[in-house]
Amino acid sequence: MATTRPARTIDSVLDELKTLAAISEADPPVVTRVVFSEADLRARAYVKGLCADAGLEVTEDAIGNTFARWQGIEPELAPVGTGSHIDAIPNAGLYDGCVGVLGGLEAIRVLQKLEFRPRRSIELVIFTAEEPTRFGIGCLGSRMMANVLTPTQARKLTDKEGRSLEQLRTQAGFVGALESVALPAERFHQFIELHIEQGPLLEQEGIDLGLVTHIAAPASVRILIEGEGGHAGGKLMPGRKDALTAAAELILALEAAAKSSGAIDTVATVGVCEVFPGAVNSIPSRVRLETDVRDIDRARRDRILDALQEACNDVATRRRVAISTELVNADPPATCDPAILAALEHSAQAAGKSHKKMVSRAYHDSLFMARIAPVAMLFIPCRGGVSHRPDEYASPEWIGSGVHVLSRTLAMLAG
Ligand SMILES: [Zn+2]
Repeated sequence: MATTRPARTIDSVLDELKTLAAISEADPPVVTRVVFSEADLRARAYVKGLCADAGLEVTEDAIGNTFARWQGIEPELAPVGTGSHIDAIPNAGLYDGCVGVLGGLEAIRVLQKLEFRPRRSIELVIFTAEEPTRFGIGCLGSRMMANVLTPTQARKLTDKEGRSLEQLRTQAGFVGALESVALPAERFHQFIELHIEQGPLLEQEGIDLGLVTHIAAPASVRILIEGEGGHAGGKLMPGRKDALTAAAELILALEAAAKSSGAIDTVATVGVCEVFPGAVNSIPSRVRLETDVRDIDRARRDRILDALQEACNDVATRRRVAISTELVNADPPATCDPAILAALEHSAQAAGKSHKKMVSRAYHDSLFMARIAPVAMLFIPCRGGVSHRPDEYASPEWIGSGVHVLSRTLAMLAG
């Protein structure tokens, strides 16, 4: 870019973030914006209006993924994409996702103000339902774009009230064939997502920007243990088939497997433990566990899943209980593209912003975009690492740095 003087101030994007946050199912400062709710639709209309004001060409697909294109000099070339999501879990804050959407739009407007003319088009993407709140599955829009979730699988999704995805999306005005959502690998040349870190490292270390090299991916396994109940006094220890003590062994086995993986990036958690009948004087006859295993290396993560299965077999035999497992999902982790990372690094240096390479331990739409395009993510700090809470906060300076470096990088990549 020809100049380093700020083309626009960050104030307008802060105002837009606040306006978007006020479009919520809950009272301020709480942001709740569940996909296809009235608030979600109003928020979409607001953002689409901003895109149209910036002269972008706005289109939507059959699931509501929204594309706002700034036409390049060679419009037949695949565009460089940027963007994120605007849905928010119940009781959330105003930065998760929205910084990537409104910050991405601002990055485009900065380039327009500088009278930059991109060779490739630059396209802002607003993904439908990154959060799993309504349909129990995260990254719905990007999953379908990458065809990781097929139209047949999508048609089976319902919300807690039993309303189908089909019913809800058509009511929201998205009526095309779900088969048209999946995109070919050549649709995007490259893709960058700007996002708050949702962890404490950048703030703690006083670093402006995180350049994400890998996006960790979760695998989730449900485990059902069936033993034998009975009176806590009457049934003596030798004959017991206690489902909860069996579960305790599995929980510890999973922890041990993760700790001994040899990598700090391996994490495993048992976040759900339901005990039946759940009475103090009754031996647990049934326990349901839900586990989450994550890593940036798929083979290493899958070895933990294998160790968990072995522990299930072993505990079932020794304790004479029945254990069944169900693999709920096992998405592959993503490795970010070295060329985009190099462009981000160059832009950060040119802008005088400190930066470090890091791993994204939460997953994002970029995890699925990585299946169809080279991707990278750009993190800005968030106060205390707090996210998914109303007190989530990113300072104007942090947002400004992110937007500035994103705009320089988009300019480099779009040429
Ligand atoms: Zn997010």
